[in-house]
Amino acid sequence: MSQPAFGNTTDIAERPNHNLKPGPIECCQICGSKNLELVLDLGHQPLCDTLLYEKDLHEPETFYPLRQVWCKDCTLNQIDYIVDGEVVYHQDYPYKSGVTKELVTYQNKMAEDIVSDLAIPTESLIADIGSNDGTLLKGFKSQGMNVIGIEPTNIAAIANQDGINTLHAPFNQDIAHKIVDGNGNAKVVTATNVFAHMATLGDVMEGLEILVADDGYFCFENHYLGAIAERMQYDTIYHEHLRSYSLHSLLKLFEYYDFTIIDAKKVSRYGGNIRVYAAKGKNHTPKESVQNMLDEEIKAGMTTSKYYKDFRERSIKLKNDFVSLLLKLKSEGYSVVGNSCPGRCSTLLNYAGVGPEILPYLAEQPTSLKLGRYLPGKHIPIVDNEILIKEQPDYVVLLAWHYADSIIEQLRARGLKSKFIMPMPEVQIID
Ligand SMILES: [Zn+2]
Repeated sequence: MSQPAFGNTTDIAERPNHNLKPGPIECCQICGSKNLELVLDLGHQPLCDTLLYEKDLHEPETFYPLRQVWCKDCTLNQIDYIVDGEVVYHQDYPYKSGVTKELVTYQNKMAEDIVSDLAIPTESLIADIGSNDGTLLKGFKSQGMNVIGIEPTNIAAIANQDGINTLHAPFNQDIAHKIVDGNGNAKVVTATNVFAHMATLGDVMEGLEILVADDGYFCFENHYLGAIAERMQYDTIYHEHLRSYSLHSLLKLFEYYDFTIIDAKKVSRYGGNIRVYAAKGKNHTPKESVQNMLDEEIKAGMTTSKYYKDFRERSIKLKNDFVSLLLKLKSEGYSVVGNSCPGRCSTLLNYAGVGPEILPYLAEQPTSLKLGRYLPGKHIPIVDNEILIKEQPDYVVLLAWHYADSIIEQLRARGLKSKFIMPMPEVQIID
């Protein structure tokens, strides 16, 4: 069968296996091609959200290969080793989206946008996959919608206590049937920053075909490949991010299922996301935005090896610049510490080989579930950020650099006088 041209198709294409088993992967996770090429090898790394307790510091620790490759047929970027989801998303998984103020504001705005962009009538059913503590669904609820969450970790309990009806389960066809039986089809299903995370993509897509109403939509956001490359975000490569999507690769994916991508845009979250609206069924006319973004991707070189080779070379240089600066400051006697412990900082610090001898601690906000734990691999302790105000270190590395402006503003308001170091998109000192 000849390769169809990129673009929305009217028929559902015959698909390769989209449900992956843990272990090394030799084929493109979307189109099944073996035409893969290395983007960046980050060595063997621990799971970034498996934070350690003090007692774990005396035990062996598991490291997995962490390599990004790209598919020369559909441009998907993917890691080439999959860790079992039950191990990655263990019951003690520390992430809670409500904790960052920026995220709450962002999610509320996203709910508003979706309701207005797609003219969703009030009291429609909205389901969120990987709904976490229910932050996005609260936004929809305040827009007058009926909501249901699907969350695999025990953060589901927090959402339920907060009045957001949440099923404690991974999303799949069974859960889709269960929701349809109990609540009917969903007018909108959302997935924010989880759509690149699931190894059982085929089961998820088939679950969406079941759950989304015939006149409904699937709306999702994920890291955008273009923003990862442009802003040098090699720190977004970790075992949770199985795939980094271009629009080319997403169009390819949706060819295999009963959906049509009708709109795509770049949005600001996490240093650059892509937001996609897919309508149920084929034979929809996409907005111009879809073709425009495809044209942009080709113009940027995203379909060429050169694009990824440049990214690799710049990433290695950036890592070296970062380490050199820290070592120079340390040797000159300055105190340097870390601020925040987002998942991505595990990739950066493990790749750069930066441990507690260089950054004695990572300061987190007092409400963080990560306090008292240790960064995997490098074993840097995570402490209450009150310590920054007390100690006034000479330099503070902004590991959640994608939120730099608001973090600097908050810490300055609390009286922090330190200089800041940005590790990305270039190594930079901010006075
Ligand atoms: Zn592919």
